Amino acid sequence: MNGSNPTLKDRVVLVTGASRGIGRATAVELAKHGAHLVLVARTVGGLEEADDEVRNSGGTATLVPLDLLDAPAIDRLGATIFERWGKLDGFLGNAGELGVLTPLPHLDPKVWQKSIDVNVTANWRLIRSLDPLLRKSDAARAVFISSGAARNFRPYWGSYSIAKAALEALALTYAAECADTNIKVNLFNPGPIRTKMRAKAFPGEDPMSLPPTEAVAPLITELLLPSCMKNGELVSFRR
Ligand code: NDP
Repeated sequence: MNGSNPTLKDRVVLVTGASRGIGRATAVELAKHGAHLVLVARTVGGLEEADDEVRNSGGTATLVPLDLLDAPAIDRLGATIFERWGKLDGFLGNAGELGVLTPLPHLDPKVWQKSIDVNVTANWRLIRSLDPLLRKSDAARAVFISSGAARNFRPYWGSYSIAKAALEALALTYAAECADTNIKVNLFNPGPIRTKMRAKAFPGEDPMSLPPTEAVAPLITELLLPSCMKNGELVSFRR
């Protein structure tokens, strides 16, 4: 933990979707453990606020304003991390896209494509770009944020559900491929949490009835510590 012997000292951890919500709260928690954070999102203001919070927790961060739809930029990110640190110790694939809740026949093809691109393809491109760096770490950990929607198929949630189901297949395949390496790969399902995405999905809900992001950040952080020995598991938060 934090203090004289932080568990993530001299370790570099990349967090996508770090400008707000679950990603930002987890970045702050990781900073308390001594990690240097590489914070990825599109919104510069949100990244700067995350940077302030990381500093206030005694940590340091490198800000990477990047649209995860920009695949060549994801490739360049891997090269930049290699030049700067030569390795990567943690990767939190947290950024997500809700899309539009509507029946499958009514889905705009652009909405479908964006959901697949942000939730699935970007995480595969990140794996492709970051895997050589994770292999350079003595104990790399990767976590992908899933959802109950990946296994609970409700009407109108198609583009999100199908993308999260594919994300789970991606993460579990990567976990199997990493079985004989120093990399461990797991999934985390936060359940309903008070964020902008949740408010978009359930506009009539009282946000104060939901747990804050700080409720799940320590659990996600645990999966990113070298002491985590799980691989290929789905960990769920229960209130
Ligand atoms: P938020 O909407 O608060 O945060 C989403 C984050 O993803 C933002 O930082 C956003 O940054 C980033 N992001 C989205 N699209 C892109 C993109 N194209 N390029 C780069 N970054 C992007 O949502 P949550 O914190 O709730 O969501 C975090 C994860 O948790 C998601 O994967 C979500 O599916 C999952 N989840 C959330 C639940 C909840 O109840 N909150 C329940 C189950 C799962 P920016 O806009 O600055 O680019």
